[in-house]
Amino acid sequence: QISQRLQTIAGYIPDHMRVADIGGDHAFLLLHVAKQGRLHKGIVGEVNRGPYENARDRVKQMGFSSLIDVRLGNGLSVIKPNEVDVVVIAGMGGSLITRILDEGRDRLESVKRLVLQPNIGASRVREWLMNHRFQIIDETIVEDAEILYEIIVAEPGNGDSAYRDGTLDIKMLLQIGPVLWQKKHPLLKKKLLEEWKGKQKILKQLERAVSEEARSRKLEVEKE
Ligand code: SAM
Repeated sequence: QISQRLQTIAGYIPDHMRVADIGGDHAFLLLHVAKQGRLHKGIVGEVNRGPYENARDRVKQMGFSSLIDVRLGNGLSVIKPNEVDVVVIAGMGGSLITRILDEGRDRLESVKRLVLQPNIGASRVREWLMNHRFQIIDETIVEDAEILYEIIVAEPGNGDSAYRDGTLDIKMLLQIGPVLWQKKHPLLKKKLLEEWKGKQKILKQLERAVSEEARSRKLEVEKE
């Protein structure tokens, strides 16, 4: 049984598509969709040899080698133009996801859907999508082993019109998530509170560091 997080991601992969899972690690996600009989063709991309070999062996063991290709390489470079309909990038930071999308822009031309799950920095991902004419069609938050994960689903669209909202400015909306906000997602408040608490902690550490630095500087000055 795969995690709640991966199950939710799998739920955003439409039936009978050609799907690439970039940074697919153990290949759990595409094996799950294949076992459900919903996968037309899968590609697992991995930049690191360890996970690549794990994924390759697991796919073989489960008897899905003809349906799922496991490829070693960086980001979207493992897929050929026009080879996939759906790209999944999950379990990485938002800046890495954005870099992978940016470096592989030409591979995204045939892509009908992106399913992205940034561990941190979701606003960067949303900003990239907005600037590259992808529309966020759905978003959710899933709680798995007491951690909250954001999942962003995007499709080619007409730019930033969908990112406008009468109540919040665009920067806020990118931080919060336009669809999460629209839906008033039940876990949104919890997520925002967690982020706020995290920031408060950093602020306190910063204040302490600054005052310690000031105190030691004062002592040094007094010594002179
Ligand atoms: N996607 C899986 C999930 O959500 O459970 C695995 C997440 S794991 C934390 C991140 C994986 O991405 C690692 O296996 C790592 O080797 C791979 N990775 C990191 N950078 C990558 C890149 N530029 N191209 C392909 N894979 C990458």
